[in-house]
Amino acid sequence: MPISILPEETINKIAAGEVVERPANVVKELIENSLDAGSTSIEVELKGAGRRLIRVRDNGSGIPADEIKLAVTRHATSKITGFDDLEKLHSMGFRGEALPSIAAVSNMLIQSKTPGPGPGWELALSGGKIKKEAAWAGAAGTNIEVAELFFNTPVREKFLKSETTERNRILKIIEELSLAWYKVSFKVISDGRTALEAPRTNIPLERIIDVLGRDFASTLIHAEVKHPFLKIDCYITKRENSLPVRSYQFLFINGRPVNFGKSLMHALYEAYRENLPSGRHPGAVIFLEIDPSEIDVNIHPTKREVRFSKEQQIYQLVYTSIKSALNKTPATELNVPCDTINAGQAVRTELGEPRARVSYSEAIAKSGIFAPAVNSSPLQPEFAGHDTGSKRIIGQAFNLYIIARDSEGLLIIDQHAAAERIRYEKYIGQWQSKDIVLQPLLFPENIELSPSLFSAASAGLELLREAGWEIGEFGTNTVRVSSVPAVLGNNFSAGNALKEMLEALSEEKKIPAAEKIEKLIRTACHLSIKGGDALPEKEASNLFEELLKCRAPNTCPHGRPTMLRISRGELDKHFSRK
Ligand code: ADP
Ligand code: MG
Repeated sequence: MPISILPEETINKIAAGEVVERPANVVKELIENSLDAGSTSIEVELKGAGRRLIRVRDNGSGIPADEIKLAVTRHATSKITGFDDLEKLHSMGFRGEALPSIAAVSNMLIQSKTPGPGPGWELALSGGKIKKEAAWAGAAGTNIEVAELFFNTPVREKFLKSETTERNRILKIIEELSLAWYKVSFKVISDGRTALEAPRTNIPLERIIDVLGRDFASTLIHAEVKHPFLKIDCYITKRENSLPVRSYQFLFINGRPVNFGKSLMHALYEAYRENLPSGRHPGAVIFLEIDPSEIDVNIHPTKREVRFSKEQQIYQLVYTSIKSALNKTPATELNVPCDTINAGQAVRTELGEPRARVSYSEAIAKSGIFAPAVNSSPLQPEFAGHDTGSKRIIGQAFNLYIIARDSEGLLIIDQHAAAERIRYEKYIGQWQSKDIVLQPLLFPENIELSPSLFSAASAGLELLREAGWEIGEFGTNTVRVSSVPAVLGNNFSAGNALKEMLEALSEEKKIPAAEKIEKLIRTACHLSIKGGDALPEKEASNLFEELLKCRAPNTCPHGRPTMLRISRGELDKHFSRK
């Protein structure tokens, strides 16, 4: 084949592979354009998780009629005129490739009008080819509709995940952008239902309430640091409010949602270090304002990565501002107005089946911070011993391990892993025999979710119910839990467990329902058991016995070992007795 320059349409279709991998990218690019246009109000409508329709309407500066065609031309932008402009970039876009890339793989309609007299203009394209253009009589601003995305790129279509997953990704992008741009009002309708309604505000916490819910917002403290080239505004969870999921971590640099990156992620976790049980995560909404010349945003096509020229200094500032806020909690306490709808904490009734026999001390704070048991009688390092046949419990160490022996040697059992294994097998057993024992809550618990987790919840209601959760939708982005599986005991937060279960559901590829339920059960078991308790002798003994009765006693459901065996022979050998 002789060398030839590719036609523009082909170039755009190829470029689309980089810029528009999935519907969420389209939503992001369109909203960013609206933000760049100085809009104060943005409305998004989605159909079929963005595959059938993505519509973004704004009240921004509009595109002049004679420039609309340029807007869908590759490398045409109104945001920079040369490379040097990147140094002082304040806009989200600058590459001038979003609109042509999206147009190349969809049916697109652009309607736009600048303020002032005269009509606007509209342009319809299919697969990047102009189909129609005409005067448009709408209000000032821009309306862009992207229909039948990927209709002409079947390969791309094949790589899309389930509708739930794609919708989730879209909603996550919207969560991020709407948190970052709290001064802009957002309204999002997905398949006819309101997924987000967030009026513009000057107070970041109000936006956090609208997007992530009042429950989460009420666990936050605030820290603010001003420095000659940097301003940090952090909303972070109190020490005792760590979460089982990472999805409540947001970083915005000059209004651009970005990944934390190794360095800032480290700063965040270091600040919490002593107070973060393993598997728990801080929630954080962090706004950084920095001189654009101090950062490089052009290191990745989706602009998720940012490079700092003063990385070490920024690390220190972020670390110290979080650390000092955590150290003086009362001074930074935020006042989140109460919502009367919220029935409040889970209070479990004493009804229903007896709890799993491995019940842990009541002294554990609901929040998940380990507290030493005060009123139980913990095992003494050398107590008389509780006989279970040839097996015998010798003691407990570090509030984490049970030390036992049997005729063959010594056993060191990880209490947490063992309890998880036992609970998991009970729960799975009840589910398989369609006999999950429910534990009604005294007060049904209303759980506020982010738009993305709520969408995962609506899609997963049936699965959750099959896993023994009595759950229903309760208004915008809120679900109501009225019963939980009794096997989970009562030392866990239904809200936290649900969030992690939903996270597990939304990340899932197309797998059979039974596998999903197994995963839900595994996640719930993990959440419902906390380590670090002094165990009364009787409980330690029960745990030991029940573990030995399990089908797979040697590992927890996540694959961690439950016990370490040191045989009599090994001991003898070690002490040179043989
Ligand atoms: P970029 O944002 O990188 O400049 P895009 O392809 O996303 O490139 O957009 C091309 C141009 O179209 C923008 O530079 C801008 O001038 C114009 N444009 C796109 N969307 C809007 C909008 N919602 N309001 C006003 N102008 C817009
Ligand atoms: Mg753009």
